[in-house]
Amino acid sequence: MGNGQFIWVNGEMVSWDRASVHVSNHSLNYGSAVFEGIRFYETPENKNGKSTIFRLEDHVNRLFYSASVMGNDIKYSKKEISDAVVETVKVNNFVEGYIRPLVFFGGGIGIDFGNKGAEIAIIVFPWGRYSEKGVRVCIPNLRKTDSRTTDINAKISGNYQNSILAHLEAKKKNYDLCLLLDCNGEVSEGPGESVFFVKNKKLITPKLGNILPSITRDSVLKLGRENGFETEERVVNLSEIYEMNEAFFCGTAAEITPIKEIADDDERKIFETYEVTNKVREIYMNTVRGKNSHLEWLTFV
Ligand code: PMP
Repeated sequence: MGNGQFIWVNGEMVSWDRASVHVSNHSLNYGSAVFEGIRFYETPENKNGKSTIFRLEDHVNRLFYSASVMGNDIKYSKKEISDAVVETVKVNNFVEGYIRPLVFFGGGIGIDFGNKGAEIAIIVFPWGRYSEKGVRVCIPNLRKTDSRTTDINAKISGNYQNSILAHLEAKKKNYDLCLLLDCNGEVSEGPGESVFFVKNKKLITPKLGNILPSITRDSVLKLGRENGFETEERVVNLSEIYEMNEAFFCGTAAEITPIKEIADDDERKIFETYEVTNKVREIYMNTVRGKNSHLEWLTFV
């Protein structure tokens, strides 16, 4: 992953190297920052602009929700933040990549940082695809943080220590990624991805409650139904995985990433067909590039 040239910080465009925080920063010490991950795509054939940002409004809404969970209001309006995202994409001068709005809190070293007002940075990176050929996945021993111990609907930096530890476990076991079970032993999600299974052409995904309400998951459910697939949001047990026909991860960064294999300590499931996954991937990639329906999801730059 390369760098962008400019980062938007509290209303100003500053060069990449100048955007830094003090080591006493509350968010650095305690993981109290909140953030988003958004992608923008090249749209060569579209006369509305060179690129389009996918579901910007939904990401900005989730960012404001996450900040409010941390007890702080963002001192800009949603429109101002959306405009700042567009501006940051423009000045960085590349047509496809990833946007990281980050809301963080100064406030010193006490746990209680009060309502000090959030600082905001918008960072842009060039970023290509995850594996299109598919990933090998293990079920880690570490469980997904329980929704009774944090706000699982918010993208709080501190929530990601769970993802990082699970991912380290997967790497240690020589897998590309992991699929976490929740504290009830049911399938939840990847470290930064939602999961779907395909059984008899039906798209099945764990219900909300113990997973991040993923914007891509929502897109896949809507696009799936509009393209004639049945969908089901429900509890998925680990034992069921071995009867599924296909599996894929989805997320802003992961887009639609096929899963080749899921293994726990006792059993291994190899997925041999990707027919529905490839179809969903094609529909999704056409949608984010403005070649399909749902132009209301796109912000042209
Ligand atoms: N789950 C987790 C834990 C994530 O971090 C992400 C990435 N934001 C996702 C799912 C996918 O969410 P989205 O589709 O909104 O990017």
